[in-house]
Amino acid sequence: MDTLREPRSIAIIGGGPAGALTALHLLRLAREKGRSIDVTVFDRKEFGVTGPRGCNMCAGVVSNSLIVRLERLGVSIPSSAVQRAVDGYCIHSGGQVVRLEKPVGSRIYTAFRSGGPMGEEFGTARSFDHALLAAAVRGGARHIRRVVIGIERPAGARDPVVITDARGGRHLADAVVGAFGVNSRTVLTFRALGFGYSPPRTAMAAQCEIPLPSAEIDRRFGSDIHVLAVGMEGVIVAVMVPKERHVTVSLIGPWVGQAHLERFMRQPEVGRLLPEGFHMPERYCHCHPLLPITGARNVVADRIVVVGDAHISRYLKNGLDSAFTTAELAAHAIIEGGVDRTSLVEWYVKPCRRAFVWDNRSGRILFSAYQALGRHPSLTRRICAAAQDESDSAAPLRSIAWGLLTGDEPYAALLRQALSPRLHWHWAIGATRGLRTRDTGAADRPKEGPS
Ligand SMILES: Cc1cc2nc3c(=O)[nH]c(=O)nc-3n(C[C@H](O)[C@H](O)[C@H](O)COP(=O)(O)OP(=O)(O)OC[C@H]3O[C@@H](n4cnc5c(N)ncnc54)[C@H](O)[C@@H]3O)c2cc1C
Repeated sequence: MDTLREPRSIAIIGGGPAGALTALHLLRLAREKGRSIDVTVFDRKEFGVTGPRGCNMCAGVVSNSLIVRLERLGVSIPSSAVQRAVDGYCIHSGGQVVRLEKPVGSRIYTAFRSGGPMGEEFGTARSFDHALLAAAVRGGARHIRRVVIGIERPAGARDPVVITDARGGRHLADAVVGAFGVNSRTVLTFRALGFGYSPPRTAMAAQCEIPLPSAEIDRRFGSDIHVLAVGMEGVIVAVMVPKERHVTVSLIGPWVGQAHLERFMRQPEVGRLLPEGFHMPERYCHCHPLLPITGARNVVADRIVVVGDAHISRYLKNGLDSAFTTAELAAHAIIEGGVDRTSLVEWYVKPCRRAFVWDNRSGRILFSAYQALGRHPSLTRRICAAAQDESDSAAPLRSIAWGLLTGDEPYAALLRQALSPRLHWHWAIGATRGLRTRDTGAADRPKEGPS
C-alpha cells in the first residue's frame, strides 16, 4: 500500500484543541470512507488537574461558532465544563459603559482549559481541553501521556516517521501532525527538522485569576465579558472574563508582563468593577503565554503537517475556532489528498491561506484603530455615546463592535462596514448627541457595572 497516498497510522504531537480536533476529524472522515486508521495523540499534560500542570493558558471564551461546529462534529461541551453562559459584552471606555446584548439563539460560554486555577479543588470534568481529548479517545484515538522529544524524518519515500518520547519509547507513523502550539520548545524540534518550518511571530499575554464569591461576580460582572479600553501603553486588548468563582484578566500586547497586570488592577475602571477595598490575595494563579500574530512558514513536508497555533490563528481572536479550522482542513487533506508535500500544499496550505491570511490583514487594521482610539478618551466617549443610542442609526456601530469582540464576522466584512460613509454619517449624528449629553455632564458620570 502507498502510505503517502493512504496513511494508516497518524501520530499527533499535542493534545490541546488542535490535536484533539484533528484526531476527531480524521477518525470521522476515515469512518465515512470505510478506511481503518490508527490515530495516536501524544501529550503529557493532565488537563483535569488544577493550575499550570494541566493548563493551556487562555481566557476561556468559547464562541458561538465553535459550539455549533463542535456539535456538528458530534461533540457537546459537558455542562460541568461550562463556567458561565455569557449574556453579552460590556465595553468600558472614558468612564462610560456600552453593553451589547447577545443575539437571541446564539451561545457563548466561558470555561477553564485545565481543572481550574491553582489551589482550587475542581477536577477533570471542569476542563474544556479534557472534554475534547476525551471525545477523541471515545472516538477511537489512543492517548499516550508522554512528551515527544525526537522526530526523525523518513529516509526514503516509503519509510515511516520515527517518533521518540521522553521515556525512550520509539513509535512509527505514516504521518505526523504537529499540534504543539507556540508555548513549548517543540517549535525548536520542528525547526530543526530541516524542511523550513519557521514558527509564527508572537505577542505576549499576561493573565491572572481573581478569586471572588459567585454572588459578587453575579452582582458586579453579571454574565458579561468586560472589555476595558484603558489606553495603557503597550496593551492592545484588556478583558475580564467572569467564571463561576473567578474572573480571568487577560492583557495582550507586544511585551506585557506582571507590571502591566499590577498597573491594570489599579485602573479606576477596574476598581469600579471590583468590590470596595478588594485586594489580590498573596498567591494567585497567573501566567504569561504567547499567542501567534502571524502565520508560520513552511508548515508541510512529506508526511508532516502543522496545525493550530503552531501554524496560524485569527488575529488576536478565536484561537480555539482557528484550531478547529486548521484541524478540519488538515484531516481532510490527509484523508482525501494524501501526505506527500505537493498534496498537502494543495489540500491544506492553500485553503488555510484563503481562510486566514487576507482576513487577518483587515483584523490588524481594525485592532490598530481600536488601540489608537483607546489613547483618545474624548473620541472614545463620543463613539460610546453614539453606540449607546438605542435607535436603528446606531445599529451598524454596535454590529461592528459585536463582530470584533466575538469574532463572529470576518474582519474584512467588519472593515468594509467600518469604512462605509453611511456609518460615518450616523456616527457624526450620534457623536453630536453625545456631546449634547456631555454638556449636561451625564456622559462623564461613571456608570456602575451592568447589573
Ligand atoms: C492570553 C490568551 C487568551 C486567549 N483566550 C482565548 C479565548 O478566550 N478564546 C479562544 O478561542 N482562544 C483564546 N486564546 C487562544 C487559544 O488559547 C489558542 O488558540 C489555542 O489554545 C490553540 O490550540 P493548540 O492546540 O494549537 O495549542 P495549545 O492549546 O497550546 O496546545 C498545545 C498542546 O501541545 C502539547 N505539546 C507541546 N509540545 C509537545 C510535545 N513535544 N509532546 C507532546 N505534547 C506536546 C502541550 O502540552 C499542549 O497541550 C487565547 C490565547 C492566549 C495566549
